Amino acid sequence: MPELPEVETTKNAILPFSGKTLKRIIVNNPSLRWPIDEKLINKIKDVKILSISRRAKYIFLHLEEITIIIHLGMTGTFRIQKLGSNQVRKHDHVVFEFKDKILVFNDPRRFGSLHVTKSIENHFLIKNLGPEPLEDVFNAEYLYKKIKKAGVSTKSFLMNQKNVVGIGNIYACEILFSSGISPKRKIKYLNRSQCEEVVKNTKRIIKEAITKGGTTLKDFYSADGNKGYFKIELNVYDRENEECKACKTKILRFVQNQRSTFYCKSCQN
Ligand SMILES: [Zn+2]
Repeated sequence: MPELPEVETTKNAILPFSGKTLKRIIVNNPSLRWPIDEKLINKIKDVKILSISRRAKYIFLHLEEITIIIHLGMTGTFRIQKLGSNQVRKHDHVVFEFKDKILVFNDPRRFGSLHVTKSIENHFLIKNLGPEPLEDVFNAEYLYKKIKKAGVSTKSFLMNQKNVVGIGNIYACEILFSSGISPKRKIKYLNRSQCEEVVKNTKRIIKEAITKGGTTLKDFYSADGNKGYFKIELNVYDRENEECKACKTKILRFVQNQRSTFYCKSCQN
């Protein structure tokens, strides 16, 4: 599932379309997580993309009066093709047509989404989002203050987009391992220096993943553009029963809020 670094990489890969004129958008299949509003989409013709940006796991295509908000869901990917090359694939939901290229949004599991809005800040998907993990506002002070009233586990807290955006299951497990904190522990009991650890490791891991994403950007453009998403070197995630790289204890897995959690019971407490 694409997490923030993958979305950042995807955004960077489609940046060349910034400044280009979007001729039209063809909706092959509107059924995504929310049905695409085809009426609104069909009105978009011959408009310039002013800029392309990312917020949390959303990609924004900023047009003159409106913004297109795209979420990759579980399996959404973009691929770039020459206009007229009739390489069509199953699950090609949306095609953005430019002068000589097309940008195709493919999503087999249909958890992705595409919305059009005049006001991003007030859009229901965007307005309650917490700070970006790499921005300065996400710091130990912010976290220490924020956890005081939280009754949830460290992992649930980090994965809640209202607290900080872009930390999915993989990164939450890895951040907590690097911070030596059990995913089960109530977050309100973390002290100030543990908050510092969590913030430091969050920034390091997200940055590392974005850098790694940069190196696989080449694959994104290849003809069979649907390469799997890259991964950082994982210490605990998906390593059940394998040895902890730090202490050789077997990595444990359990289900927490319907998601698999991986951790080392001797390194994390
Ligand atoms: Zn260990």
